[in-house]
Amino acid sequence: MTLLIDRRVINGSKIDGKLADDMTKAGLDRIRSCIQCGTCTGSCPAGRRTAYRTRQLIRKALLGLREEVLSDPNLWLCSTCGTCTERCPRKIDVTEAILYLRNLSCQAGYMRPEHQGVSHKLIETGHAVPIDDPKWSKMREELGLDPLPPTVHSYPKAVKEIQHIIKQTGFDKLVNYKESKKDGKT
Ligand code: SF4
Ligand code: SF4
Repeated sequence: MTLLIDRRVINGSKIDGKLADDMTKAGLDRIRSCIQCGTCTGSCPAGRRTAYRTRQLIRKALLGLREEVLSDPNLWLCSTCGTCTERCPRKIDVTEAILYLRNLSCQAGYMRPEHQGVSHKLIETGHAVPIDDPKWSKMREELGLDPLPPTVHSYPKAVKEIQHIIKQTGFDKLVNYKESKKDGKT
């Protein structure tokens, strides 16, 4: 009997060799030199208290387990502190690699609802975290600051400009703005 091994599949997940190529083209070519030493995982403050394992993520990305990597909620546990990048013996910009994978994850429709909510705030107010409670303005004054920062809060007409830019770049579609509005989720 001939035993056939399908090298396009690992543990039931399809291999997409293009993922490593995409990362290389995006300037993350050093990622191919990863020796799986685990320094990134060992240094990672996010991995200390969660199931997030940086080394594993890099390995899966290199193996081409695209869907598994992009749909993994652990991808969002990285705080982008940069420690892994500082300590990687192969000088891989691990943090940038994670940010790149997050971008792909959003484009593939795996954006977290919380992140969508923050993006919707940005579209509506020009701030991801707006001053939407008078107590914040009061606290600013107590600290000797103007009640509102010199941003769209002080120049409300600029919100329209931000919304124009967001529309032109397609960011509203990426974060499912209109559809979620229709659904009454925001
Ligand atoms: S520290 Fe660098 S070489 Fe080591 S596993 Fe992490 S990415 Fe790979
Ligand atoms: S940048 Fe992210 S993956 Fe790297 S050490 Fe910090 S939290 Fe961990």
